[in-house]
Amino acid sequence: MTDIPKSHPRYASLVARERVAEGVKRGYTSIQGLIAQGRGECFDYLLGERTTPSAAAAIRAAAALLLLARRPAISVNGNVAALVPEEMVALAQALDIPLEVNLFHRSEERVKRIAALLREKGAKDVLGEQPDISLPGLDHARALATRGGIYDADVVLIPLEDGDRCEALLAMGKRVIAIDLNPLSRTAKKATVSIVDNILRAVPQLTEQVRQLSSKPRSDLERMLNEYDNEKSLAQAAQDIREHLSSQFQQA
Ligand code: ATP
Repeated sequence: MTDIPKSHPRYASLVARERVAEGVKRGYTSIQGLIAQGRGECFDYLLGERTTPSAAAAIRAAAALLLLARRPAISVNGNVAALVPEEMVALAQALDIPLEVNLFHRSEERVKRIAALLREKGAKDVLGEQPDISLPGLDHARALATRGGIYDADVVLIPLEDGDRCEALLAMGKRVIAIDLNPLSRTAKKATVSIVDNILRAVPQLTEQVRQLSSKPRSDLERMLNEYDNEKSLAQAAQDIREHLSSQFQQA
């Protein structure tokens, strides 16, 4: 990878960009993944590259939802694998569930490489290499899923996902947690809980919240979830962007 000095003001963002580029070179990430990363970077810039208080509240609600789930599942795509492979393994371990490789631009080779990467990072159980069922309402390659994983889950975490698959999962009666820096995306608007934050910052905090909340009674978790309102949270993200922009241009 290119050597980026830690003192560079855009260090974190440049490292993320390098990781996704490396993901393409190593065959985890599709070429389209570079564009998705660029869109995410842009929204991160507008948000001030920080976890806002409303994103932190969404992370807590997401942790509560994962802990309340009868059968939670986690989807991993090429950008997720390039950016946070160890962190996703840690989250799956904290919940004691498998990770499922699920690709928008599916190729068997990429699925295999991502699964191997996750195993190399310590994942015990990785699904997705032998899909055995299709999600209704999606075309063939994008519909592929695995019994015992996303297909049978009641709650699914879909970081950096497109709107169609989010909708298809909701139509099956599942509750969905999105991680998406774009508060305007169809995924963010439709999801049960949308974490408007960079996946690099969000996943470690989500794992930490899962660990902290795991000893709480279900009634506390239910209360936390009931207090969460996704529409309000997205409106707050839009407000956070406005405020950040005004703070940069005092005369605005
Ligand atoms: P939709 O179909 O939901 O309207 P879209 O067409 O924007 O969404 P994609 O481009 O498939 O969907 O999804 C990528 C999404 O992931 C984008 O909204 C982008 O902002 C977001 N994203 C990209 N990189 C990151 C990141 N590092 N952290 C969080 N979100 C990210």
